[in-house]
Amino acid sequence: MKKKIKCPLCSFEFIPRFFHLEKLKYEVSAPVHIVNKFKYKKINGGFQPQNIVSRSWVTTCPECKYIIKFAAELGKKEHLDQESKTIFHLREFKENGKSYEYKFYNLDKPYREAHYYNVDLIGRLKKKIIKAFDDLVLPDWGFLYKTWKVDSQIDSFKFLIRFLSYIEKYIASLDISVGLNTLISKIGALYIPYEIKENIIDLIRIREKAVSQYYELNEKDEKLLQKTYIELIMELIFQEMASLHLNEVNIKEDPQALDKELYYLELKELLQNYVRDTMYIHKETSQFIITMLNRLKITLG
Ligand SMILES: [Zn+2]
Repeated sequence: MKKKIKCPLCSFEFIPRFFHLEKLKYEVSAPVHIVNKFKYKKINGGFQPQNIVSRSWVTTCPECKYIIKFAAELGKKEHLDQESKTIFHLREFKENGKSYEYKFYNLDKPYREAHYYNVDLIGRLKKKIIKAFDDLVLPDWGFLYKTWKVDSQIDSFKFLIRFLSYIEKYIASLDISVGLNTLISKIGALYIPYEIKENIIDLIRIREKAVSQYYELNEKDEKLLQKTYIELIMELIFQEMASLHLNEVNIKEDPQALDKELYYLELKELLQNYVRDTMYIHKETSQFIITMLNRLKITLG
């Protein structure tokens, strides 16, 4: 199936935004795509045409606003034999002593509407985004956090130890080279907001105390753990999204056919669900995700 309509007036090629159905009073030749196939050959004597169109698919050229019609319901002139004449035929007529009637056939939309390509594109992008998150093993981080929140076996100390080991693994995967080859200096070199770095370093100090001085984590430490987890995860999600250049995405055959509103809303929903169901962050995240989409230059209009 061809993707783009060529406007017969201005020659602009486009993916139709949508079609609507329109009733016609027996039009013979206007619809564009049947012109060549079923061109009415005028026969002397005023005979009825072989084909008539009774409904059409209608769309508009986005460039010059020309209204373009395609056949949606086609009537074919068919000969009625003696037997079928006994049945009541509404549209029966006679020519040269023979009986005819038009039999009507529905025709599909001749082109897919823009929505089809939008759904297809967004579906593929969603898979790409989830794969990027999976590559960062974010579901493992989320599972760890969830067990801390719901499983009494995982206390704050155990969570702290495992959370920091995830951070260390993440840093190792980045292959950062710094002058001083220490964890603290590598954290310093991370491309994340300063406050998150400070909080991670504070957590490392708490781990040292807890391991070597039998220090018990208190409520303040637990708040810091939760805050650091949420902010770091949100930052990692943001960075992955930014690396995919989602603001430059388009339907390549016809960039104007991208439905920005649908795209924005689908990405927002994907992120909200992911943060809640996979990362187990139940804090009010809606505003945060709106801000994130804004930073990514993905907008409604
Ligand atoms: Zn046009």
